[in-house]
Amino acid sequence: MNAVLMTVQIVLGWMAFSDGLLADGVHTLADLGADGMVLIVLRLSAAAAHRRAGYAFNQSDRYETAGSLLIAILLIATGMQTLWTSLSHMNDAGNGASVHAAALVVAVFVIVAKEALFRYIMGVAKRTRSSVLVASAWHARSDAISACVAVLGILGSMAGVPMSDRVAAALIGLMIARMGWTLGWKTFKGSFARTAAETTGQ
Ligand SMILES: [Zn+2]
Repeated sequence: MNAVLMTVQIVLGWMAFSDGLLADGVHTLADLGADGMVLIVLRLSAAAAHRRAGYAFNQSDRYETAGSLLIAILLIATGMQTLWTSLSHMNDAGNGASVHAAALVVAVFVIVAKEALFRYIMGVAKRTRSSVLVASAWHARSDAISACVAVLGILGSMAGVPMSDRVAAALIGLMIARMGWTLGWKTFKGSFARTAAETTGQ
C-alpha cells in the first residue's frame, strides 16, 4: 500500500506542481523504510523467542528499541529535508503556477488509504499484542492527518494562493520531524528505565 501511495504521490506531486503532495510522497518513502524496519524487528524478535524463553523477552525488547530508534532518526532527517526544500521554494515564489486538481484527488485518496491502514494494523496489533505494531498503527493515523494538511494546501493553491501549498509542505516537514523526535525520546526513556530496572531490581 505504501509503495503504491509513494509512487502516485511523488509522480503526481511533481507533475501537478504540488510541493505539499511531493513532501507527503517523500514522507511515504520514509514510511516504507520504517515498514521494512518493523518487518526486520518482528523477524529478529521471533527468532530470539525461539532460542530461549526468559532471555528472549529481553532480547526482543532490545530489537524493538533499536528498530524504533532507527525509525526516529529516519523521520527527523526526512522532516528536516522536507522543511528545507519547501523553504527554499518559498524564495522563488515568482512562478505562481497553481496546483493541478489531480493533486487534490491523490491527496484525498491518501487520507482514505492511510485511515484504512490504521484500522487494519491496529486490529492485528491488538490480536498479537505487539507494541511495535501499535506504534506503526498510530503512525498511519498521523499520516492521514498530514495528508489532510496537504489537501488544505492544495485547496488554497487552487483558490489562487500558491503559497499555501508551500506552507503545507513546510508544516508536513515539521510534523514528520516532531514525530521522529517524540518516538526517539519515548524509546530512549523507555530503554533507560528498563536498563535501570534490570540492574537494580534483580
Ligand atoms: Zn508516516
